[in-house]
Amino acid sequence: MLSKLPDVGTTIFTTMSKMAGDYNAINLSQGFPNFPTDEILIDLIRKNAGANIHQYAPMAGLPSLLEGISNLVHKCYTRDLNPIENILVTAGATQAIFTTIQALVHKDDEVIILDPSYDCYEAPIILAGAKPIRIPLNALFLPDWENIFKQTNDKTRLIITNNPHNPSGSVWTEHDLRLLEKLILKHPNLAVLSDEVYEFITFEKAHFSVNSSEILRDRSVVVSSFGKTFHITGWKIGYIIASETLMIEIKKVHQFLVFCVNSLAQACISDYLKVTKVESLGVFYKIKRDFFREKMKSSRFELFPCDGTYFQIASYKSISIESDLDFSKRLVKEFGVAAIPLSVFNGNQDDQKLIRFCFAKDEQTLISATERLCKI
Ligand code: PMP
Ligand code: GLN
Repeated sequence: MLSKLPDVGTTIFTTMSKMAGDYNAINLSQGFPNFPTDEILIDLIRKNAGANIHQYAPMAGLPSLLEGISNLVHKCYTRDLNPIENILVTAGATQAIFTTIQALVHKDDEVIILDPSYDCYEAPIILAGAKPIRIPLNALFLPDWENIFKQTNDKTRLIITNNPHNPSGSVWTEHDLRLLEKLILKHPNLAVLSDEVYEFITFEKAHFSVNSSEILRDRSVVVSSFGKTFHITGWKIGYIIASETLMIEIKKVHQFLVFCVNSLAQACISDYLKVTKVESLGVFYKIKRDFFREKMKSSRFELFPCDGTYFQIASYKSISIESDLDFSKRLVKEFGVAAIPLSVFNGNQDDQKLIRFCFAKDEQTLISATERLCKI
């Protein structure tokens, strides 16, 4: 059978997490927290499981959750949303991204992706019959606007941005947001797909969301994930914020992809939003980032700046000249720590001898992992 995705194999997250299990290594590869979920949320599961909440939710999401998201977006970005027209609850950000691309991108369109880029962007573009245009980020892992302006044309339908950025941990400046506005104003056919799943995980720098720009709002689809915000990656609940015009098209695809998503999880999150503060998330992960970086000081790895997300990039140039994939495999087998090689996030597999560690882990895990890493 002729493959529709001939160049796609098993993702690096599956590969490295499996290796971590096989070799009994500490898993700092795939991005997920290993500490317990908030007791309040567990209580809400018990409470909601006893209620009449087990049948299909409305297609776009439980009204109480749509309302909760609308309040959150208003509070954080002073953006007023109509919960019915502008919000869609999805099975994680992955489904949100797939759905958006299928809904908005036509055959032979071009879609800009900024490398290194998260792995779920390219396949849906190819499945839509469109062409991914992969543009490298600059040395600070921020958009290279000059190159982006050069490569945007009448065929460019979408630019996919990711801020705060996985895998690098970079965070946009206000200037980046202004340049995205300029790009959008210059190209009437262009829309933005802004992946902001780490919107609440920034440290010293503020997060400049597409939601906060009046120019971008009507021309953008903003994606977020409760998996990241509430430490519940396995629940797979995310959401899309979009203008009514874009959302009409997105919902057409959503209703035939999943129709609606997990009702119990939506009810719990809707209750949880009323009692929790997303503002504390940055401080929570800053403590973990600082702890990890401090413990890595005596290692031979060179740590790059980390302004957001729960990922830390490190160069192993002074340790080895192996490819990042080979080095990551040896790290698991010989030193008992799993990480993610960065080259897999580059269209041309460009290998800068960088690997990514996830520090969303409890203190003991970070101590054990860094002890092993410092011995290399
Ligand atoms: N985008 C980025 C940048 C991510 O790191 C992830 C992983 N959580 C996703 C999208 C997918 O999120 P979800 O698990 O909610 O599907
Ligand atoms: N977003 C997670 C990461 O970057 C991985 C999610 C997945 O396994 N697909 O590590």
